[in-house]
Amino acid sequence: QARMTIEDIDKEFFFHPFTHVREHERVGPLTIVEGHGSTLTDTRGRAYLDAMAGLWCVNIGYGNAEMAETLRDQTERLAYYHTFASMGNEPVARLAQRLIAMAPGSMSKVFFGNSGSDANDTQVKLVWYYNNVLGRPEKKKIISRDRGYHGVTVMSGSLCGLPNMHAGFDLPLPMVHFVRAPHRLWEAEPGQSEEEFVQGLADELERLILAEGPDTVAAFIAEPVQAAGGVIVPPKSYFPAIQEVLRKYDVLLIADEVVCGFGRLGQNFGSEVFGMTPDLITVAKGITSAYIPLSACLVSESVWDVIASGSDKYGVFSHGYTYSAHPLAAAAAMTNLDIIERDGLIPQAKARGERLAERLRAEFGDHPLVGEVRGDGLLGAVEFVRSTDPLTAFDPALKVAPAVVRRSRELGVISRALPAADTIAFSPPFVVTEAEIDEMAAVARRALDDVAAELRL
Ligand code: PLP
Repeated sequence: QARMTIEDIDKEFFFHPFTHVREHERVGPLTIVEGHGSTLTDTRGRAYLDAMAGLWCVNIGYGNAEMAETLRDQTERLAYYHTFASMGNEPVARLAQRLIAMAPGSMSKVFFGNSGSDANDTQVKLVWYYNNVLGRPEKKKIISRDRGYHGVTVMSGSLCGLPNMHAGFDLPLPMVHFVRAPHRLWEAEPGQSEEEFVQGLADELERLILAEGPDTVAAFIAEPVQAAGGVIVPPKSYFPAIQEVLRKYDVLLIADEVVCGFGRLGQNFGSEVFGMTPDLITVAKGITSAYIPLSACLVSESVWDVIASGSDKYGVFSHGYTYSAHPLAAAAAMTNLDIIERDGLIPQAKARGERLAERLRAEFGDHPLVGEVRGDGLLGAVEFVRSTDPLTAFDPALKVAPAVVRRSRELGVISRALPAADTIAFSPPFVVTEAEIDEMAAVARRALDDVAAELRL
């Protein structure tokens, strides 16, 4: 055993999430040992540019010394205490105050968890509890969207509009329903105007609510920009039209800001960019730039008022995790938000996002195998197609996007394949340099051309 490499040990013992087991047995892991800025280094000393900030989350970049200092100081002062039964800690109270001050609309309270998945699960429980307190126990169904990604718990996995998230798990739960994504490339009729397209999606939502019965539909959940489902950027008129329908039938809006929150789209929240007025907001990832796990559910004043009165009916609000409102995570979030504010990282993300869009358009704009280059803020994507005229998708079995990502990695850039859309995504740290952006786009282009030659596309 002493002579086993770290890769051997990994293959023998480590059950990887979201990993093809047989393929992993064959090729083994890529083991990362260090990260600084936007650069990762593996066990062999090979460097990679991380075009994905981990999983859309290391927004301030790797290896930040101030974060290390905060984590050490807070560990020495108070590494942990729970927050059940009115127990508190200082970092978490201050973080809650700060999140409410930053949040759009009239948010009033913050509930903390550990991951985007558990936070979306909590949101559904909040919505159910809310309707129970209001004496309408039948109003429980949740509407989500095709291509949505909301996590992996039994409920948040159900909320995903991606078939792979359900396969093998007997999901989705029956109270979850779906409408189409605002993905014009595939969902719009030929010649349809943006206004007609958006109206069609709002009408579809209204038809579903009427078919299910408005008294049974509790909430609609949406990412401002659908990230894992393909970096699907909605038309600006989309959420206003959707919200008109939701208000008409008294259906709550949950904004899943796990990727978009804290600056990825050039403002604090994606809701601000896309005219959303959510009743509940989910955040995670960028709240600590992933230095330590933390998620939060932001609850609007009107929802909070009902939930608060639930104690009269149900007694203790019996929900929360051992690690809810963990002081280390809250301290890390405070320092992360300080760094983002002080260093102007949100305007920087916006500027780098413009550069990324420009470079992706330059490399892929009129490529015959590219259906669309899209993005918003510091989120970018390139969707591959067999032909642009007429628009024809590749056979999914060809796995074009994963092949491009594999080749990119060989060339030193880590991007991400979003197989549901045959798309590669870019979501680098906000501290990425212009030269690094240029390199990411150029490598991706070379990777596509290499794959096209190899697969004779
Ligand atoms: N919601 C969105 C929009 C996400 O992108 C993700 C993760 O990628 C989640 C929720 C789930 O978060 P976690 O992986 O922290 O459970």
